[in-house]
Amino acid sequence: MADSSDSRPDNFLRDIIARDVEAGTHAGRVAMRFPPEPNGYPHLGHAQSIWLNFGLSGQFGGKCNLRFDDTNPETENEEFARALEDAVRWLGYEPTAVVYASDYFDQMYAWAQDLVRKGLAYVDSQSEDEIRAMRGTVTEAGTNSPFRDRAPEESLRLLEEMRRGEHPDGSHVLRAKIDMAHPNMKMRDPLMYRIRRDAHHYRTGTDWAIYPLYDWAHGQGDAIEGITHSVCTLEFDVNRPLYDWYLDAIGIPEPRNHQYEFARLNVEATVMSKRKLRRLVEDGVVAGWDDPRMPTIAGFRRRGIRPEAIRHFASLAGVSKVNGRTDLALLEHAIRDDLNSIAPRVMAVTDPVRLVIENMASGETKTLDAPYWPDDVTPPEAAPKTRPVPLAREVWIERADFSADPPKGWRRLAPDAEVWLRHGCVVKCTGFETDDAGEITEIRATADLDTFENDPVGRKVRGAIHWVAAETALPATFRLYDRLFSHPAPDELEDFMTAVNPDSLVTRKGWIEPSVAGDPADTRYQFERTGFFWQDPEDSASGDLVFNQIVSLKDGWARKTKAPAPEAPKAEPKPLAEAGPRDPASALSEAERETYSALAVRGVGREEAAVLAADNALRSLFESTVASGAGEKEAGTLVVHDVRRALGDMPLADAKASPEALAATLQLVADNALTRNAVGPVVSHLVSEGGSAPEAVEKLGLSAVSDEAGLAPALDAALADNPEELARYRAGETKLFGFFVGQAMRRAPKGADPKALQALLRQRLGA
Ligand code: ATP
Ligand code: MG
Repeated sequence: MADSSDSRPDNFLRDIIARDVEAGTHAGRVAMRFPPEPNGYPHLGHAQSIWLNFGLSGQFGGKCNLRFDDTNPETENEEFARALEDAVRWLGYEPTAVVYASDYFDQMYAWAQDLVRKGLAYVDSQSEDEIRAMRGTVTEAGTNSPFRDRAPEESLRLLEEMRRGEHPDGSHVLRAKIDMAHPNMKMRDPLMYRIRRDAHHYRTGTDWAIYPLYDWAHGQGDAIEGITHSVCTLEFDVNRPLYDWYLDAIGIPEPRNHQYEFARLNVEATVMSKRKLRRLVEDGVVAGWDDPRMPTIAGFRRRGIRPEAIRHFASLAGVSKVNGRTDLALLEHAIRDDLNSIAPRVMAVTDPVRLVIENMASGETKTLDAPYWPDDVTPPEAAPKTRPVPLAREVWIERADFSADPPKGWRRLAPDAEVWLRHGCVVKCTGFETDDAGEITEIRATADLDTFENDPVGRKVRGAIHWVAAETALPATFRLYDRLFSHPAPDELEDFMTAVNPDSLVTRKGWIEPSVAGDPADTRYQFERTGFFWQDPEDSASGDLVFNQIVSLKDGWARKTKAPAPEAPKAEPKPLAEAGPRDPASALSEAERETYSALAVRGVGREEAAVLAADNALRSLFESTVASGAGEKEAGTLVVHDVRRALGDMPLADAKASPEALAATLQLVADNALTRNAVGPVVSHLVSEGGSAPEAVEKLGLSAVSDEAGLAPALDAALADNPEELARYRAGETKLFGFFVGQAMRRAPKGADPKALQALLRQRLGA
């Protein structure tokens, strides 16, 4: 497919290919492949690799095969192979051919016999343990096998017997004869074939009793298919000499396939290895491979994320030669960016409380003509512009949008306060009812009837809230998703399962406006003020309305860890009884539980409260940080996650970070002078070096750059370097905005504030 230019790969690999094409290395030909092992469901890392291989080859008019690396019969199956193939097509690519390493087993075997004849391979009859023990170490040479000088005729005979299943597993292997003293351990007579006599291969059945190892299969497959650029992840760089050695040994002449490596994609707060993902499924942490919280293609599809967003994310994350970790916020940005101009806005109330408009009669309905789209969005051509929204005496509003005792700066409904019911009218709260437990059961208000359908411009209201008229509302279930892990780098923990976020799924019952009833089931909506949603494709099938949150409107995690903005209401501490599937306090003693509860009520996160309750030294640092002006919740997160991570094995007593400096770090975040992502390195620096927060920020060069002077060079360069895209943008192709954001971010200084950058870019483009 012709990829839109805002998600086309643009990186060092493209440069390498461009040079080869220009130099006519392969007569200008480009051929790549995506080579998954069908041993699990595809994940975001595979998506990155698919985008890279298919995207790059496509840019050069080349070909790209999907090749299953099906050399390990014990863990592979058809179901996984189908899921991988589906993922390629879902992402928008069509393989030139779908092929299997097993297609080449005959050819590989013939080549192996050839190597034996040439004295370049031999059958070793030691066990794999013995072979391993004799490989030596990085500093010591290995020892030659006693079978290394076996006569080629004998090796050939044994190899043929191995192939026919006449020898048990582990009795022999075929090895390449290279150099047991080679500084690169991969070159010390590597294994080419091992016996798996009883394994059933999902394609070749029991035809083969021996199976090739990855290194022996991969380059040979590339050569057979005429691959030009064979891209793999960084950890294979030590395998490259072996890749080339095999090609030399079987006599493939230049120009031939070459291996290039890039850093695998890691994303904050998630895990990506198939093995770990399987554990989440098998332990029941998630509902399956397609659970919307999973970083799998199946999970993304079920959640309502579109392939456009994943491709865009892949291009924003980019391709690098060094391992790193990509912010989850970038993925969320790509998803929002994709949905923004295709998702009609509607209103839904996820946690309802009744509001009675006393000066409307029961049975009276006013039907408003409400816009589906905000002014700054260009909707799809054929999309309807408005929908009818009924307003009546009783409406549902969000429980969190009312406070009986509002804190200073409250921007929603409260006694005697006025708010605008979005698209509707201004209402003034005249009273409310509670039940015995003090829970609000009903709110009363009067409407200013002059304000119907007129935006209350210039009128002093507290804020605007969303709502749904009760009588005509449709009941719906809302599934709100949060990140699956509460730790930014679960992979780095001893046991990643300890970092599972118990609140990653919250299910609510509420109401949605009736207009959605007539829409196609796969419509992606923006629920105003809440987030992007669509109907769960499976659980809505029966006619129930079950909505999955695709992405929230803002980065909720950043908001949670940031000091509360002055106008934000103070978060109600969550009742402890509401503890999710796993209670973090379950391991605490009676006394610790009390401390835990006290901390939780003060607003500290439950996970963090449990850690602090059990650790007096850490709690004392937390208390001093709060005493130095930090918010409770933020200080809890900082001490429990960032400080502990910075400590590693160091005792807390040796840490040089002062509570004042820690509090000041949080203040910098609140002041937008530091991004939340930069907090980890700053805390690390404070812990090991001491000093003040601004000093640390300065030393690490992490100041947030949000001013025009700091960002302008990147913006100007992004526009100047892409005149063609700029012209197309000016000609009305406004979806290129995301492309320019990506281009500018790539050129921007460390710490660049993406929001400020977007705002400036918008100005520059006159958008
Ligand atoms: P896993 O650890 O999940 O099993 P893998 O690398 O073994 O990953 P394969 O199915 O063998 O997975 O890989 C298929 C292709 O996808 C390979 O080319 C591999 O380099 C690429 N790939 C896998 N994970 C990532 C990742 N996180 N980032 C980029 N590419 C990846
Ligand atoms: Mg693997």
